[in-house]
Amino acid sequence: MGFLKTIDLNKTFKIETLKIPAVENLNIEINRDEIFALVGESGSGKSTVARLLIKLIKPDSGHILFKGHNIWQMKKDDSVIFRKSVSIVFQDPYASLNPRMKIQSIVEEPLKIHGQFSAEEAKLKIIEIIKEMGLDETILDRYPHQLSGGQRQRVAIARALILNPEILIADEPLSALDISLQASLLQLLTRIKESRKMGILFITHDLNIVRTISHYVAVMHLGRIVEEGQTGEIFKNPLHPYTQVLINSIPGFHRRNRKKTPRISTEEKLSWNLKGCRFFNRCDYKMSICENNIPELKTIRGRKIRCLLY
Ligand code: SF4
Ligand code: MG
Repeated sequence: MGFLKTIDLNKTFKIETLKIPAVENLNIEINRDEIFALVGESGSGKSTVARLLIKLIKPDSGHILFKGHNIWQMKKDDSVIFRKSVSIVFQDPYASLNPRMKIQSIVEEPLKIHGQFSAEEAKLKIIEIIKEMGLDETILDRYPHQLSGGQRQRVAIARALILNPEILIADEPLSALDISLQASLLQLLTRIKESRKMGILFITHDLNIVRTISHYVAVMHLGRIVEEGQTGEIFKNPLHPYTQVLINSIPGFHRRNRKKTPRISTEEKLSWNLKGCRFFNRCDYKMSICENNIPELKTIRGRKIRCLLY
């Protein structure tokens, strides 16, 4: 049984007359003590998955199970446990931290909402977590704008972890940061995962990060998972044409290249209307059957793959 699991999850957005399936038939399982990477270009639906998983938005159909319980059908007590157990860090720490609050109040907020802690207990917990994040106590008295980008993201992580969640959803947590800061934050996340035996859903467009940090990876393209399996296996031998494109386009170590976020093109978005494979317009291996048949996600050679070549 997965710790946090989705069953045939669907979410569609309407843009004028266009119905865009942001997430289609999603079946993933995030377990404790493991880093699950969800990778895809910007616009592929990754953040929608994050928002669905923390109950910020409601799916059109399908289920999200937390320890076997449907998160939309929970009794109040279970719902409180769910909210404490699954937390999130967003991409832009500047936007996600209230500029008018001091760091101490920002980190304390979840304790106030959920916990029954005395002021003293709260203060101890805050100091402990701030130190675990590699920050100095003195920042507690400052405002977000007085911190560096890296410090702000550490504060956001501190806030996400203060209630001891079992799963952390990290939605592009490093993309607003410099390369040098990215490495130290990656180390921090790996260390936290080890010491807390926590599961992390790591959402990113950056395959270099996926390779460094995750055990398991799911590749998402226009709302659909196209390939999923052990990170090492997929990097060694990507089977889906889209995964191959992504892996072949991993830039070198040039700062400028690596900061670029790939985006789904407008032409590609039109393939949302396709009856078959959404990668059709870009695929070098396409066959005529691909245009009108939706490939299913099949298990092949120990991994899952959605392509009519297999
Ligand atoms: Fe390419 Fe066809 Fe596979 Fe789609 S189903 S990725 S078009 S070969
Ligand atoms: Mg996003």
